[in-house]
Amino acid sequence: MRPFKYARASDPTAAAGAVTANPQAKFLAGGTNLLDLMKEDVERPNELVDLTRLKLTEIRRIRGGVSIGALATNTDTANHPLIRRNYPLLTQAIVAGASGQLRNMATNGGNLLQRTRCQYFYDTAMPCNKREPGTGCGAREGLNRIHAILGWSEKCVATYPGDMANALYALEAVVRVRGAGGRERTIPIDEFHRLPGETPERDTNLEHGELIEAIELPGSSFAKNSHYLKVRDRASYAFALVAVAAALELDRGTIRQARVVLGGVAHKPWRSREAEAALSGKPASEESFRQAAEVAFKDAKPLAHNGYKVELGKRAVVRALMRASKVGGA
Ligand SMILES: Cc1cc2nc3c(=O)[nH]c(=O)nc-3n(C[C@H](O)[C@H](O)[C@H](O)COP(=O)(O)OP(=O)(O)OC[C@H]3O[C@@H](n4cnc5c(N)ncnc54)[C@H](O)[C@@H]3O)c2cc1C
Ligand code: SF4
Repeated sequence: MRPFKYARASDPTAAAGAVTANPQAKFLAGGTNLLDLMKEDVERPNELVDLTRLKLTEIRRIRGGVSIGALATNTDTANHPLIRRNYPLLTQAIVAGASGQLRNMATNGGNLLQRTRCQYFYDTAMPCNKREPGTGCGAREGLNRIHAILGWSEKCVATYPGDMANALYALEAVVRVRGAGGRERTIPIDEFHRLPGETPERDTNLEHGELIEAIELPGSSFAKNSHYLKVRDRASYAFALVAVAAALELDRGTIRQARVVLGGVAHKPWRSREAEAALSGKPASEESFRQAAEVAFKDAKPLAHNGYKVELGKRAVVRALMRASKVGGA
């Protein structure tokens, strides 16, 4: 690991100011992703601003919804009564990730910003446009079994690996951030992560030095009928090959509105508004869910080794919607 300066932030504005002032500085939260990347020499900050003493851990009611502190751990968030009762989809998604020990350390802000698990990104001997812009993409013609089938570019075919964000997209969360000088703004979650395009080195639309303070969830009508399904190579401690955050608002067996967000298939959580539109007004039945699954993957462009994700993804959508709607006792 390279030498770096360490500072403990005393308040959010000072933390944002310190990182903004130094282009090589980074925030440190639970460290479960950043420190691994530093050990692998993938990330090379020369200064870490430690956020862990900031009072951004609160989970509380706001205007009909709930605000979740960026520094609350994944464990505390998943177990909080307000989340379990009102947003069970979020609890399920968080618990599907990592392991108990990691979730005890991992924070919500850090989880949103975790970096791809593309193996070429981690291997500094290989070309990678995300790690070193302009060097090429090792995965495009390499081993791309875990990579994207939607929204990728010739510059990068990586996927976003997280689980929690898939549920946050379905719940239409908003990310509250603070920049240097105390400037605040909010970012709708759908605009938070980016597709790779020509600049895969930028994962999100956060500016350098902007601190995530909280994630806000609006009131939700999906508490009764939602399900998070994660398909992976082994039952725990593995990232999603395909994941589905499904949520339905039902009126006597008819779908009033739906949310379908796919994980493990694109550079960001992939909300399929087309699948949602296809479900609206339809009976909550296996046939409706199959039609929605076809729509969700109609634009999929698999790479050499990940064609299996298309069929797997469709089946996962159907199963997640069956479980959300409890059709057939699923
Ligand atoms: C073996 C293993 C398995 C895992 N499996 C899964 C899984 O299946 N599903 C899943 O979703 N995750 C998984 N994870 C990822 C884990 O959830 C993340 O590493 C964790 O959530 C990151 O949170 P952190 O607080 O440790 O972030 P850190 O590592 O401290 O930071 C990550 C990034 O976020 C930035 N950052 C942190 N907080 C803020 C903030 N408030 N504002 C602005 N920037 C900030 C940091 O500068 C850094 O760039 C796994 C991790 C490991 C090591
Ligand atoms: S897919 Fe993206 S992260 Fe992976 S090697 Fe290509 S550019 Fe790098």
